[in-house]
Amino acid sequence: MNCTLHVAWDDRLAGYDFGAGHPMAPARVQLTIELARAFGLFSMPGVSVEPPEAATDVDLEAVHLQRYIAAVRHASDPEHAAGPEPDESQPGELGAAFGLGTEDNPVFARMHDASALVAGATLAAARAVWTGAAQHGASIAGGLHHAMSGSASGFCVYNDPAIAISWLLRAGATRVAYVDMDVHHGDGVQAAFYDDPRVLTISLHEHPETLWPGTGWPSETGGPGAAGTAANVALPAGTGDAGWLRAFDAVVPALLRAFAPEILVSQHGCDTHWLDPMANLRLSIDAQRVAHASIHRLAHEVTGGRWLLTGGGGYEPLQVVARTWTHLLAEAAGCPIDPRVLIPPAWREYAARHTGQEAPETMTDGAEPRFTRFETGFNPSDPVDRAIFATRAAVFPEHGLLPEP
Ligand SMILES: [Zn+2]
Ligand SMILES: [Zn+2]
Repeated sequence: MNCTLHVAWDDRLAGYDFGAGHPMAPARVQLTIELARAFGLFSMPGVSVEPPEAATDVDLEAVHLQRYIAAVRHASDPEHAAGPEPDESQPGELGAAFGLGTEDNPVFARMHDASALVAGATLAAARAVWTGAAQHGASIAGGLHHAMSGSASGFCVYNDPAIAISWLLRAGATRVAYVDMDVHHGDGVQAAFYDDPRVLTISLHEHPETLWPGTGWPSETGGPGAAGTAANVALPAGTGDAGWLRAFDAVVPALLRAFAPEILVSQHGCDTHWLDPMANLRLSIDAQRVAHASIHRLAHEVTGGRWLLTGGGGYEPLQVVARTWTHLLAEAAGCPIDPRVLIPPAWREYAARHTGQEAPETMTDGAEPRFTRFETGFNPSDPVDRAIFATRAAVFPEHGLLPEP
């Protein structure tokens, strides 16, 4: 496929940094960008890399409360923040009411600027796609899907996917689909558009009984007037390549075809991997790569190629994040990398220096996963099939689709 890709990237995006020892380390995106560079992705025809501008207050306020934005500003630069304290009713707990200064979301210097730049990157990629400057837009530092209207949550300060979707709606989009592949429920994006029939959110994640944030049940299907525009696939802990791909194939393509969005937004958190320290799914890089390719094909089939992709979670930077997101960027550039290929030695040296660990040699975990059809071979005693069926039963009828295999 000959695809054009706008990559919104600037080294300043590494400034989104909660500090030493925090899992959301900037090395995740830095190692990715360097690996993509080592493979020559950014000098391919059709690929442009451009530094984004920070999101403006107008963009942020489309999703976040003014007083929350003021609190982020104040917490990240209390000496110089303009205006009064955002919540004077709780002067001693300024940040706590807004999810700031917690173990998950510690305050850091210039946190507002760094977070607004992440949102700006996703906005720039969205703009490139919506205006037709490029078919696909990538914001690899983005995908901060947990941030809520009035609070930081789960390492996420501003919800860049929601901010970009909101911009797309203001720019004239009437139907936007969002597919969230992170191991955690895409709760913040779902919440932002729960009552909005123009936005379909689909999240595949580990079951809320075993993983934070404890939401993302199949029964969460959208608010009044928006029935069926939220879909949640809650997969049992331990689900591996075959089960995850089966669930994706049984839910995502049918809903996208039925909803017929004008643009597809996808979040590619790779904390589904078996090495990830945060969660309990057991995917390989190879299954993640198969999912990237499937989303890409669906974008060309369903939205005429309009595809905005973001990063997300993923807390094993060296073995997992850099490799899977490099595969993602290569897929979006229309030049997928052969998984068996050897990784350029220059990156392996850079990565070893950066992390003090030995870097992987190839772009594969050695798995060769494939899709299996739910429609043939439904097994009611298999917990993955039961999870798939629960989601289809909750949502498919709203779209005129049959939940049964
Ligand atoms: Zn393409
Ligand atoms: Zn996650």
